[in-house]
Parts: sequence; structure tokens; C-alpha cells
Amino acid sequence: MGTEANVVVLPKDTATLRIETLTLPDPAPTQVVVKQFASGICHSQLHQMHRPRQHNVVLGHESTGVVLKTGSNVRHVKEGDTVMVTWVPRNAAQADSAPVTAQLDTSDGVAISENVFTWADHTICDQQYVVKVDPNIKTDVTAIIGCAVMTGAGAVINTAQVQPGQSVVIFGVGGVGLSAVVGARVAGADPIIAVDLDDAKLDFARAFGATHVINASDTDPVAAIHEMTRRDGEFTIFKQEVSGADYAFDCIGIRQTMEQIVPACRSGHFGVCEGGTAVLVGVPTTPVELNAIDVLVNEKHFIGSIGGSCAPDRDFPRFLEWHESGQLDLEAMVTARYKLEDINTATDALQNGQIQGRAILEF
Ligand SMILES: [Zn+2]
Repeated sequence: MGTEANVVVLPKDTATLRIETLTLPDPAPTQVVVKQFASGICHSQLHQMHRPRQHNVVLGHESTGVVLKTGSNVRHVKEGDTVMVTWVPRNAAQADSAPVTAQLDTSDGVAISENVFTWADHTICDQQYVVKVDPNIKTDVTAIIGCAVMTGAGAVINTAQVQPGQSVVIFGVGGVGLSAVVGARVAGADPIIAVDLDDAKLDFARAFGATHVINASDTDPVAAIHEMTRRDGEFTIFKQEVSGADYAFDCIGIRQTMEQIVPACRSGHFGVCEGGTAVLVGVPTTPVELNAIDVLVNEKHFIGSIGGSCAPDRDFPRFLEWHESGQLDLEAMVTARYKLEDINTATDALQNGQIQGRAILEF
């Protein structure tokens, strides 16, 4: 007997979402059915909505919920457990098969998810995407750990492994960028420089730990970053004073910011230390030009960070501890709440830049 679910469906030929009541199948041996409390709404779903597709799609990839049913081979969770659903395998090192992707029958054909779908009051997904968590967590605001916090904070503490006293710049302070600011503060980075186009977002970033802010609509961010990060007594191969950030994170992924993070990084101190590291976190939609001379002579690095290099079984309890101890203020970060039936209003607001932090859907 299947499970009735109200699911947001992205039709194959329009970007207007609709809600359908569908029947989720019983779980395959490695699948889990989850009754959900809340889900985050992420920019990457907007990318999905505006991409051509061959079939209907179901969306969303971060949530909290409770396990309703488990497949015969699922061992790490049981009915009644509180869980988070995410899009990164919880412990890829121990996974012995590829995750099984759900397919749903909708009113006009099959709908497919990339890996999970969380814009629904119930979901079904492979056990690799279901992370067991403490049953006492707040089940609304923690829904954004499964993508926004993981991606932003993970980029700082896992991918870059920022150390105390290192300088960090974060381009774009929406949900992911704010999480990167929090990760930088927990890591002890100083300064923590936030770059955005919106003064309200920049003020908001200060509350999460940004020590300096730059509005790139009226200031050249690269010049300002170098001004804020001079290092007296250190010189480049060209006898210039060393300046720039140890790490520059692009949490947007547009051409302009991708091309600013490398020049924003610190030049190397010849024979003493390498240059800084530009970390791409936002999903890119265009190619970029890289100044190869800058990379070569200043010994800079350009790296990617996907899902914050997180292993959810290891990292989600850590993020929940940050929340518990007040270091990660998810109540402040969640700035908008919507019901399932308001999903088009929610995605429009995100598209139009009206969401200051992160929006969630509550079921
Ligand atoms: Zn996401």
C-alpha cells in the first residue's frame, strides 16, 4: 500500500509549478519514506526550473522529517526516527551501491528527481540521503542544514579548512553565503569580509559575524579587499607589498564574481608562502576567463567546493551543535516561511531577490 503525498511538480513544458496529490510507492529495499516537517528553498531549484527538460521533475533537496517506512535493507534508521533529507550521500565511503532515484506517476506522465525531492509533505528516497538526527532538534529552521548550511559552512571548514586568524572574503550573502560567514567565525577567521550589492543584506551579514562589508554596486570589491588585507613587511616576486584574502569564496557563481575571487586572493610571499585560494561554491552557468599570470606568479589556487565537501553523518551533528550553542542562528537565517500551496509565490520572491536569508516551506 502506497503513501499519499502532496507534491510540487515542475511540468516539462512550463516553469509554473503545480501541486498534485500522488501515491508514493512502497520503499524498494534501500529506500525510505519520510513524512516531512519543513524544506528549504534553494537557488539551484530556480536553475532547474529554467533549464530545458524531457519530463516532469520533482524538486527540493533539504528537509527535516520523520521516518514512516523503510525498505528491507535499511539499517541506520527505523520508523519514528527524526531525520534530515539531503542531496549528498550521508557516508559515501560505506555506500556499496549507487543510490536509487525515485520516479513518480503524475497526471501527465512520470516525474523524476535528480536525487531527492523535498517540496512535498511526504517523500521517498534512497537511504543514503537520509541522515538520522537527535529527535529534540527544532524541526522547522534546521531544514536548511541539508543544503544551505552544508554548502556554505562546509566550504569553509571542510574544503578550505580555514585556520584561526586567516582572512576570508565571501561574495554573496544569501543563505549559503551567510552559512559561510558563520563557518568562518567558528573557524576563527579574521577579518571576515562580506561582499554583496544590497546594504540590507550586508548589515544582516554583520549579525552573523562579518567584520567588514563591501557594497560592490558602488565600490570595486577587489581593490577594497586588498586595502583591508595589507601585510606589512611581506613582498611579492615583483617587490609589491603582499595583500589580499587567504580565501575568497564565491557563493553566487556568476561570471563577474567568479572572475573577482582570484584577484581578490592574497599574492604569494616569494619563497615564504603560497598565494591565497579562490573557492567556487555557487553553481556556475557560464565559462570564465582566468588570469593565468596572476595564478602562476602569485601561486594562487582556484578550487571548487560541492556540498561543502560534507559527509552528512559526520557534519550534520556538528552543525546542530552550533545551532544548539547559539553559534549558528538559524531562527534569524530563516527569513520567510511558506505553505506548500504558495510555492510559486516563494520561488518568485527568491527569483526577485526578496529573500534576505533563506526561505522554507512548512508542511
Ligand atoms: Zn540547494
